[in-house]
Formats: sequence, C-alpha cells, structure tokens
Amino acid sequence: MRAVVIRRGESRPTLANVPRPTPGAGEALLRTLRVGIDGTDHEVIQNNHGGFPSGDDYQILGHEAVAVVEDANGTALKAGELVVPTVRRPPETNKYFERGEPDMAPDGQYVERGIVGAHGYMSEFFTSSPEFLVSVPDSFAEYGFLVEPISNSEKALEHALAARSAFEWEPESALVLGNGPLGLLTLAMLETPSSPFQRTYCLGRRDRPDPTIDIIERLGGTYVDSRETSVEAMADAHEAVDFVYEATGYAKHAFETVDALAPNGVGALLGIPGDWEFEIDGGRLHREMVLQNKMLFGSVNSNVRQFEMAKKRLAAFPDWFVDDIITGVYTPEETDAAFEKNTDGIKTVVVFDTR
Ligand code: NDP
Ligand code: ZN
Repeated sequence: MRAVVIRRGESRPTLANVPRPTPGAGEALLRTLRVGIDGTDHEVIQNNHGGFPSGDDYQILGHEAVAVVEDANGTALKAGELVVPTVRRPPETNKYFERGEPDMAPDGQYVERGIVGAHGYMSEFFTSSPEFLVSVPDSFAEYGFLVEPISNSEKALEHALAARSAFEWEPESALVLGNGPLGLLTLAMLETPSSPFQRTYCLGRRDRPDPTIDIIERLGGTYVDSRETSVEAMADAHEAVDFVYEATGYAKHAFETVDALAPNGVGALLGIPGDWEFEIDGGRLHREMVLQNKMLFGSVNSNVRQFEMAKKRLAAFPDWFVDDIITGVYTPEETDAAFEKNTDGIKTVVVFDTR
C-alpha cells in the first residue's frame, strides 16, 4: 500500500510502498481518508522526535487522521463507520492507559503513532484497537482530522478551568499566543458560544495583509503584533487577561505570560521549544505569581474524553473557518508539496480516499 514515510538518515518524507497491515485479535482495519500535517510532523522529519518503530528503518508519518472502518474484524465497530484515532498507545499496559488518561503518562510509558516509536496514519490502511478510535458522524469525512489538534486545546482548557475551580472564577478575556494552526484552532474554540470568554486576543508577528490576521478578526479576536506589543506589555496596551494559551513555542513567552495575566489568571503552555538560555527576573515573576494567585501549567496530548469534546467543538465552528485554515489539499503523490513550508499556507492535508 502507499504510505508517506520518513526513512532513517533522510530529511525529506517520501511516498513508499509498504506492506498492508493485518489487524491482530481485537483490532480493526481502517481505510484512511485524510491526514493533517502540523509542526510536530516537521519536527519528526527533521530530528526524528523519538525514534523509529522497533525493527523498522522507516516511520509512517501522520497523527491527525479521519478514516473508515474497512474490516471490523469481530470488534464492536461497524464496517463503513467513520472514526478518528487517538495518538498514544501503550508499549505495554500501565495505569495511565487503564484509567483512560494516556495523555498524563510520563515519557517511556507510551509510544505515539506517527511521532514516537510507532507508525502513523499517513497510509492507505492502518490498524487499531477500538478503544483508541472515536466515532464521528459522516459529515466529518472532510475535516474530521482536526479533532486531534482541537482535542489538545480542549485538554488545556479543561485543566485551566479545573485549576481555577476551587473558587468563584469569572473569566472574561483570553489571549492566544501564536497564529499557527494550533493558535487559530484554539482561538476558534474560545470564540464558540459555549466558551466563557467575552474578549479574545491572538498574538502573531506578521504584517497585514495576512490570511491569519483576517481569520483572527473574522472570528472576533483582536490581533496583537508582538513586534509592537510584547506579551509583557499586553496589560498596558489592551488588558491583563484571565487566560493565556501559549502556542508559539517561543520560550520567553512562558515567563512573559505571568505579566499578561490578570490576578487569579491561568496560563497554559503548549509550545515545545528547544533549549534556550536567557535572563529573566525570576524573583519578580515568582512574587507576582504568589501575590496575585496566578498559575502556569504545561499540557501535552489528549485523551478520548477530550476527543469527544473536540468533536462537539468542531461541529460548532463556522464553515468558513475550516475552509480558510485548510490551505492545501494534496494526494500522496504530491508529498513534497504537502510538506513544503510557506507563509501563505496555514494547514495542509493529504487525501488518500474519499467516503
Ligand atoms: P507553528 O510553528 O505553525 O505556529 C507557531 C506560530 O507562532 C507561528 O504562526 C509563528 O509566527 C508564531 N510565533 C512564533 N514566535 C512568535 C513571536 N515571538 N511572536 C509572535 N508570534 C510568534 O506551530 P503550531 O501552531 O502547529 O503549534 C504551536 C506549538 O505547539 C508548537 O511549538 C508545537 O510544537 C506545539 N504543539 C504542542 C502540542 C501539545 O499537545 N502540547 C500539540 C501540537 C503542537 P510565524 O508563522 O509568523 O513565524
Ligand atoms: Zn498534531
């Protein structure tokens, strides 16, 4: 079958012919429809995040997918049903997976399909146990692969709300750092009717005209240019916000978030920076966090419950938004173009099949 893979020692993905997987006992065979590409895929390609699946000298890419059940193979799934797979799998079972919280498992207690130690979904077929598949309606055939990235933000928001649940928190404003795909999906999430936030901001570093700025404003957010208004200056330039969601991977933002937060505010850090040493006034930030009851936390990955939340969220997004963030739709034969980085594009997707 056709699969988009990264081979050991190479720095560009290629279309390869690999064996079609056979489902084991308790596993279903899935036919892939679409697989989204994000920054993590580029990191996997550049420095092979976590290693190839054991025994293989290539890794099938892709962790954001929507697929059809081809062969239920005795599981409770129905052939023809549409599903979205989660990312983490147990190397061997452990308490995190048993509790349905693989997203909280420490390094070494999981593999990640398409990222760390396991093949991904960018192939004509893949296999999976049903417990790692989330059913989605037929209307998700085109954009269902967005459930995975949205679920990462659902997790962060769930943790933020839980972290402020010990008192009467009345959040009104939120700031998203980063206008990449994750930042824009999160802004859209914070702008859906069920969101508690009345005012939203999104930080980038682009000149107008720019498609991401158009999307921010059409969603109802205020664009903040970090070259004019730093995260630290946010409170003076606009307002101190109740919730910050960091999706730039720019390490200084983690600390500057403390200044952007209003008293009792909470900041979620999602970006994954490389090592970077710089100076900060740690004493001031420490004091500010304590005396203003501020909170910072990190968040990675997501679980089935958060995929379910992301399903509802995706259904609530305006149609124009999903159309606008998907800026490239490619066949597997167009792998080079699908993985090309350009500033006009926001998010690309590889299409293996249609419903
Ligand atoms: P991108 O790299 O596509 O987006 C990052 C965005 O932040 C870009 O648009 C970039 O602007 C902007 N940016 C970077 N530095 C600054 C700055 N100093 N000021 C203003 N804007 C800035 O990544 P994604 O959207 O795919 O993901 C965001 C981050 O989240 C990444 O670090 C990724 O690794 C991580 N991630 C984490 C997950 C988790 O579960 N924790 C899940 C998925 C992703 P420009 O394009 O103009 O350069
Ligand atoms: Zn992703």
